[in-house]
Amino acid sequence: MTYMSTATPTTELAGKKIIVSGGGIGGASTALALALRGADVTLYERHEEFKEVGAGLQIGPHGVKILEKWGLGDKAIQAGYLPDDMQFRDAVTAENILTMKFDETFRERYGAPYLVVHRSDLLNLLVEAGREAGADLVNGVSVVGGEENAAGDGVDVTIEHRADGSVETVSADLLVACDGIHSVFRPKIVQDEPVPSAYVAYRGTSDLPNDPDMQGLNSVVGYIGPRCHFIQYPLRQGELLNQVAVFQSPRYLDALIGGTDAPEDWGNNEEFKNAFGHTNDFLQGRLGHMWLDQWWQMADREPLTDWVVSDHILVMGDAAHPPLQYIASGAVMAMEDGETLALYASEAASEGDVDWGSVVREVSDERAPRCGRIQTTSRFWGEMWHVDGVARHVRNEAFRQAERGGWFHYADWLWNYDPARRDYVNDPALGELPEGLKDWEYNIHKIQRQRDAGVSAEDITV
Ligand SMILES: Cc1cc2nc3c(=O)[nH]c(=O)nc-3n(C[C@H](O)[C@H](O)[C@H](O)COP(=O)(O)OP(=O)(O)OC[C@H]3O[C@@H](n4cnc5c(N)ncnc54)[C@H](O)[C@@H]3O)c2cc1C
Repeated sequence: MTYMSTATPTTELAGKKIIVSGGGIGGASTALALALRGADVTLYERHEEFKEVGAGLQIGPHGVKILEKWGLGDKAIQAGYLPDDMQFRDAVTAENILTMKFDETFRERYGAPYLVVHRSDLLNLLVEAGREAGADLVNGVSVVGGEENAAGDGVDVTIEHRADGSVETVSADLLVACDGIHSVFRPKIVQDEPVPSAYVAYRGTSDLPNDPDMQGLNSVVGYIGPRCHFIQYPLRQGELLNQVAVFQSPRYLDALIGGTDAPEDWGNNEEFKNAFGHTNDFLQGRLGHMWLDQWWQMADREPLTDWVVSDHILVMGDAAHPPLQYIASGAVMAMEDGETLALYASEAASEGDVDWGSVVREVSDERAPRCGRIQTTSRFWGEMWHVDGVARHVRNEAFRQAERGGWFHYADWLWNYDPARRDYVNDPALGELPEGLKDWEYNIHKIQRQRDAGVSAEDITV
């Protein structure tokens, strides 16, 4: 399979002024996708530089297809690594329970390979390509507000220059808020809070070629175990090893069950030291490679069914759908958002004057159910990784069966996606979990429900 190294820009959105708030992977993708259709795009990022915290990102074929469309397929693959497969292992015994091969059959089915890439490398590619396509990407400016203009045909956006605190208003046809999980604009749709999962992630990168225990690693490997998991994969053509260690924080869980405030540093180094004692020796030996100076308390939000702030303001990326990371699709969803908006807007422009109110609603109707399903499935998938006791043995057998009997049908809905088909507009019920999982309840909800019903801390079932 070969990939285009340049996209073919078009001009449907020429003369349309679009402001993007936030220069993470979501905002940079959106700016690029719109600029490739000829829009006059300005992106404001509050930080002085474009940067990502953390290291590796898994980009499934649903994301690689989009990079390809944007002319970045080759560059992203050169910057990253194409693993042969993904291997799930039981974290207690290290037994391999499922290998998902990313072979030619996989690539043909999903139209692209499975890529792993350093976050900063991907962001740099998107920023560079956005600029080449004509977008103006500006650092050190926060978007602090936005209102429909008096004529009702656009938006007045308030920006603050961080260097001197000066504030000004700029006008646009559309404002796209890709400003992350603590978005300025999401509260205009819903007043909700992030939902901590009680799990915390430690990350780390290290030299791969000179690591004697990791020679020949060409897979994404996930050790899944009771209340924890551990992921490894190569980056930068095998020069760098990416590792992520995730575990349930006992102190956060106790606070949640007891109805008290969790300590701010839940998941700290003390908890990390004790979290993997029940896992295999190899895994425990790898923990010394993790960064200890920061850790990530994992949280998502409840799925949002409507992303439209007003006819000319839309939220996207983590601002609309922050997920748990278990099906590795948060950044890919944000890329899909950008491509969907650019596609629907350019189609509308080809048919005449763009009615932005209709465009943003159509984007929301397509994207909200899809991303809701990814968020909910991520919660379910994470719980399945972390089970203990008899459930762990049943899970392991289900994984072995999936390898024997074929696993594609579990993944088709996720990886075989094309926004041009408008699958979710046509059938919003696709956003729900499959019938067999309808009565599954997320553990955090289950604990909260029992607490709300007055069940005492000792009697709460986790
Ligand atoms: C441990 C972990 C592993 C993950 N692994 C994967 C994976 O393998 N694959 C995958 O697809 N996803 C993964 N994700 C999810 C993915 O990282 C995120 O979903 C994605 O990066 C979100 O991008 P975003 O641009 O929407 O938001 P953000 O990355 O949060 O970017 C928002 C940007 O907006 C800026 N901003 C905020 N407010 C303002 C403002 N008022 N004005 C201007 N700028 C503003 C911020 O500075 C920031 O740059 C993982 C997440 C975690 C935590």
